[in-house]
Amino acid sequence: MFEKNTSERVRSEQTATGAARSERAAVSIRHLSKSFDGVEVLRDVDLEVREGDVVTILGSSGSGKSTLLRCINWLEQPDRGSIHIGGQRIGVNDAGRPMPVRELARVRARTGMVFQSFNLWPHLNVLHNVTEAPIHVLGKSKAEAEAHARELLEKVGMSAKADAYPGTLSGGQKQRVAIARALAMQPEVMLFDEPTSALDPELVGEVLAVIKDLSAEGYTMIVVTHEMAFSRAVSDKVVFLDKGLIIEQADPETFFTNPSTERVRKFLEREES
Ligand code: ADP
Ligand code: MG
Repeated sequence: MFEKNTSERVRSEQTATGAARSERAAVSIRHLSKSFDGVEVLRDVDLEVREGDVVTILGSSGSGKSTLLRCINWLEQPDRGSIHIGGQRIGVNDAGRPMPVRELARVRARTGMVFQSFNLWPHLNVLHNVTEAPIHVLGKSKAEAEAHARELLEKVGMSAKADAYPGTLSGGQKQRVAIARALAMQPEVMLFDEPTSALDPELVGEVLAVIKDLSAEGYTMIVVTHEMAFSRAVSDKVVFLDKGLIIEQADPETFFTNPSTERVRKFLEREES
């Protein structure tokens, strides 16, 4: 279902319409390390994500993928290294001190996160799940927040369910609402942590299709996934984590057809079988 060379197509479309892809860094990670209980789960990670790029992160369970995403929005604090989002360092101010809470909140708001387990508010209908934070955090008027929410629900194919409660939705529908909810905060970078891993197989495609549409619209996204065909189709860059180390970073064509490490070759063989 996923065409190859999507990124090339998008890039040429963007060039054709004059909106050429930026070379600016959306996320810049340098020498990032993180330990839990004396065990290093991220080791000297360097990663650069340009504006408009889709980077997928692959790796076995326990390799540090979630920890990497959670460091980017400071849900985990790294032990060493720096992370810049849109040119601004997160978590540490210019004087090298921990950021004041309000400033940290502003930098964190540059990212939007979608989790494996949706985390919708069960007592709010779909529309109100999407408008809650824009109204209470961004200070948008109800009318403005609802108009934007309806646009986003249209984008993820959930307009018809605006009045429904999460409990009545399928997993795929819940995840699409969760994506709309994250987009409603107008983040510069979307982070997805295995967005389809909790879904029944027949519901995976509808969520991946939404993420793929967002990539065609030029959203900057970092996606942790086990969906190889999807990764190959949407990525500008594929990153492979192994025991907290990035052992391979390549364009999808190179990564999937000619990986440079034995470890990745084995991983891909296993995924194919
Ligand atoms: P992945 O997402 O690739 O499966 P994680 O980033 O969740 O990997 O975990 C990497 C390693 O860090 C695992 O060994 C995990 O058990 C450990 N870990 C993750 N979060 C914590 C935590 N909050 N406390 C202790 N250990 C953790
Ligand atoms: Mg994980």
